[in-house]
Amino acid sequence: MSYYDFAIVGAGIAGASLAAELGEGGARVLLLEAEERPGYHATGRSAAFWEECYGGPEIVPLTLASGPPLREGGFLTQRGALYIGRAGDEELVTGFMQRFVPTGATIEHLGRGQLQTRLPGVRPGWSDAIWEPVCADIDVAALHGHFLARARAGDVRLECRARVAGLERGEGFWTITTARGESHRAATVVNAAGAWADPVARLAGASPVGITPYRRTVVQVRVDPAVPDDLPLVLDLRGQFYFKPESGRLWLSPHDEEPSEPCDAAPEELAVAQAIERLGEVVDWRVEAVEHKWAGLRSFAPDRRPVYGRDPAVEGFAWFAGQGGFGIQTSPAAARLTRQLLLGEERDTMTQELEPELYAPARFV
Ligand SMILES: Cc1cc2nc3c(=O)[nH]c(=O)nc-3n(C[C@H](O)[C@H](O)[C@H](O)COP(=O)(O)OP(=O)(O)OC[C@H]3O[C@@H](n4cnc5c(N)ncnc54)[C@H](O)[C@@H]3O)c2cc1C
Repeated sequence: MSYYDFAIVGAGIAGASLAAELGEGGARVLLLEAEERPGYHATGRSAAFWEECYGGPEIVPLTLASGPPLREGGFLTQRGALYIGRAGDEELVTGFMQRFVPTGATIEHLGRGQLQTRLPGVRPGWSDAIWEPVCADIDVAALHGHFLARARAGDVRLECRARVAGLERGEGFWTITTARGESHRAATVVNAAGAWADPVARLAGASPVGITPYRRTVVQVRVDPAVPDDLPLVLDLRGQFYFKPESGRLWLSPHDEEPSEPCDAAPEELAVAQAIERLGEVVDWRVEAVEHKWAGLRSFAPDRRPVYGRDPAVEGFAWFAGQGGFGIQTSPAAARLTRQLLLGEERDTMTQELEPELYAPARFV
């Protein structure tokens, strides 16, 4: 039976990025993925943006620290983002500026005139906007592939169709059994199972931290007039929608957040209809066709902060979960920080501004 320093459960962006980091740190790593291929669940279904304020002020440091490696790696294409508000949303605008200016995010308050320039066809009544110029699209497939390639180069072994079904702790190591009956040994098991993080913790006899998956729907529509390529990502200050251009089409979400069991999420017709109705309240464009729709699960701990590091009660069990709606855009810094926590390394220029206690599993004890 082969023996590893770390067995990571789940090869989405979380598992792949951490495998790359740990492999480069000299650890022997096994990456176990239940599906036929890595990236089938949340990672393959994202809306693919890097947006500084997304997830709240405690996520901003992870997003900002991840910006330089994502930019230098060629994974970002600058787009800009507009948070927009209606008459009556003035307090939301003020509150947003007060919450995010101190975080170091680059944001600026715009009036109706500038909003109209950036969002042609915007309906009367939308009076305020917050402009975030550095928001960017992420090439998620390339980024995930990059982490997997780095992992391979670091001698990480990736096994697909390897659903972890049993975790037994022996004398200083785990015996990991997959649903197909294979067994492996590792000193530490890392839970990067996305929506399945709590069930995987139970397998190890660890207390679940309360990670809940929530369904999020995205619809690809063709609209008239055609979407300008330089349209920003447009988000509602009240959190009811976002949309952005994608290859001449529009990706549109009603910002739904329906609690779900961990599963292969599928879009519901109601969410699709809501997305289109809400778009109609913002712009005077006509939706000509719904070309594609999908849903995925965003998995959050109760306080909406991610969970990185060793479990406080179960020896040899660690968490890299609760990546919510920001798991792609935070992946470089999150994986580097978690490597440093697991290998006992010093923090470096990428992670020096981060506060690991904010994300520690011990906060749930
Ligand atoms: C519609 C939508 C839009 C989003 N938009 C953005 C965005 O614009 N920007 C952004 O940064 N983030 C976005 N996100 C969030 C982002 O996609 C997630 O935070 C991220 O993909 C989570 O990665 P993960 O690896 O934790 O989870 P996943 O990608 O779900 O990976 C977990 C893996 O664990 C595997 N697994 C589970 N149980 C087991 C087991 N027992 N044994 C072996 N393997 C197991 C699963 O098969 C799965 O492949 C979005 C999410 C959704 C759904």
